[in-house]
Amino acid sequence: MTETRTYLDYNASTPLRPAARAAMLSASDAVGNPSSVHAEGRRVRAIVETAREQVAALVGAKPSEVVFTSGATEANNWALAAGWKSICVSAIEHDSVLAPARACGAKVIALPASGDGIVALSAVTDALANVAAGGRVLLSVMMANNETGVIQPVAEAAEIARTLGISLHVDAVQGPGRVPVDFASLGADTLTFSAHKLGGPRGVGALVIRDGVNLPALIKGGGQERRRRGGTENVAGIAGFGAAAVEVARDVETAQRIAGLRDQLEAGVMAATPDAIVVGGNAPRIGNTSCIALPGKSAETLVIRMDMEGIAISAGAACTSGKVGANTVIAAMGLGEAIARAAVRISLGPETTQNDIAAFLAAWKKVAGGAALAA
Ligand code: PMP
Repeated sequence: MTETRTYLDYNASTPLRPAARAAMLSASDAVGNPSSVHAEGRRVRAIVETAREQVAALVGAKPSEVVFTSGATEANNWALAAGWKSICVSAIEHDSVLAPARACGAKVIALPASGDGIVALSAVTDALANVAAGGRVLLSVMMANNETGVIQPVAEAAEIARTLGISLHVDAVQGPGRVPVDFASLGADTLTFSAHKLGGPRGVGALVIRDGVNLPALIKGGGQERRRRGGTENVAGIAGFGAAAVEVARDVETAQRIAGLRDQLEAGVMAATPDAIVVGGNAPRIGNTSCIALPGKSAETLVIRMDMEGIAISAGAACTSGKVGANTVIAAMGLGEAIARAAVRISLGPETTQNDIAAFLAAWKKVAGGAALAA
């Protein structure tokens, strides 16, 4: 096992930013419950409210629209579980959208994706033609796909939702720092974020709910978060989320440098393994993500062999890895089992350097060129 590590799995989780760590340590030392009226409680409440302003500023929302949750999985579950009669959902969504959609008793209409990884919104109007008028209908489309990085047509989805008079949920977890996110102009009803995808801590996220949209609480209990989400707030986590949100706003400046490194990585891969396929390579993508399939090879084995060379990449979403199987996003793109089983994801971040790309390519040449990866 190599000692030096090269971390290229930012879409699974990002390193904690020093500012987020400092904010968390300071918040952990503050005593009191944010719902208490005494001075201690008020001081802790102020930490939560500052973070709310910071997160709201990052995504162009009002602070009153930001509700802190235990992460994006909870936020997606909440948005999907709100008593919908029908849910139109893109087939390439994260499991934290697909699973609650299937479980909530609504009629689920899966929207196909093109071979390039873009959701086919043209199917929405036809699909909804048979849905009872006046029923509560939700359209759920993610901002950028976590596996391929392909940017989804969320503005178009908002336009369709407006025209049809239905609600729109956007899982924007992979957006901040990579594409501009502006809740006010987007026109979605709800938007999901996760702190650990942007340099904050794991286990905290937010559902942004447009003012005036009435979403019954999923987590019932005390009257926290203006009666929208029960439970004493994760004050340290929220403080870290807020501090990371301030920093990630600056990442848009480094996004171009990261895209350059990603392109260099893909060029190196194609030179070393000419039969490799860059999944979604012809579509607009966030600049940090590369999904590469080596047909006939096993993605799982490739990930393990790269790990032994000191390189952290993934095959399928981290939440579902551990179970060996085909990448469901790629399967939904209709690219076939052989590619779905052979696709690995490499995702870069602001800390990624030229040396990381060189280390990746040296390991790739050694591992992916060999015969030991038969599927
Ligand atoms: N949505 C997307 C698009 C994701 O990539 C992830 C994390 N893999 C989630 C939701 C779930 O986020 P969390 O880890 O905060 O529950």
